[in-house]
Amino acid sequence: MPELPEVETVRVRLEPALVGRVLQRVEILDPRLTRPFDPAGVAAELQGERVVAVDRRGKYLVVRFESGRVLLIHLRMTGSLLHGSLGNGRSVNDPHRRAVVRLDDGSDVVYRDVRRFGTWLLLEPDQLDSYLEPRVGLEPLTRRFTTKRLAQAFAGRRAPVKAAILDQRRLAGVGNIYADEALWRAGIHPQRPAGKLGLEEVKALHAGIRRALKAGIARQGATLRDYRTPDGGSGAMQHEFKVYGREGEPCDRCGAPIEKIRAAGRGTWYCPVCQRL
Ligand SMILES: [Zn+2]
Repeated sequence: MPELPEVETVRVRLEPALVGRVLQRVEILDPRLTRPFDPAGVAAELQGERVVAVDRRGKYLVVRFESGRVLLIHLRMTGSLLHGSLGNGRSVNDPHRRAVVRLDDGSDVVYRDVRRFGTWLLLEPDQLDSYLEPRVGLEPLTRRFTTKRLAQAFAGRRAPVKAAILDQRRLAGVGNIYADEALWRAGIHPQRPAGKLGLEEVKALHAGIRRALKAGIARQGATLRDYRTPDGGSGAMQHEFKVYGREGEPCDRCGAPIEKIRAAGRGTWYCPVCQRL
């Protein structure tokens, strides 16, 4: 599933294509994308809106319009956004196309989604903060994300640290891949209780989270199956994983074989020597 680095890569690539453009024609081909709202109604509302910014909050893309309204896009498991001149047969025949937006410069943005869990939500100007506030916590690449705030987010929690990192309401944008990568960087076992970490460990994890996410952004994200950049290309982070998906392979730091367990209900990879329980 796309995590912060993948969504940020999409944002950076889409922003120059979208800002200043008017959504000339909008087709929403899958009612699941906008439910419970009528897809034709949402499409009609979107037509004529001019984009002023493309932001990101956690794993959400935030498309801001001149009117003050916002289109909040979540790619969930397999959503992707492609931009270009897509009037060719290949994209028209793609059975996984869920929406097509024609911009006023003649280019198209196509939303495709194999598993169909992605969502498009059109919000009025005063609805964005109240929508995001209970759902999306600390933004890990901002200055507000400090060791102290991370410690506060973990305080008193008996849940495994991996579960605490994955909790979007506390920490935004980190999913299964970058959680494992961050914990390896910090040398912390994924099943340690979050509230029991010492200050030095929280400090190491704070740095590990930021480094893992930045490494992902630098490599345009990780393409395991469906994730694509808006020009249809792949990310390269999957070639650089330290632990994720590397069961039995040697740890970069100590050479011990990486192990796979279940933590926080998810497949979890870690080094049994560098990350002791
Ligand atoms: Zn190791």
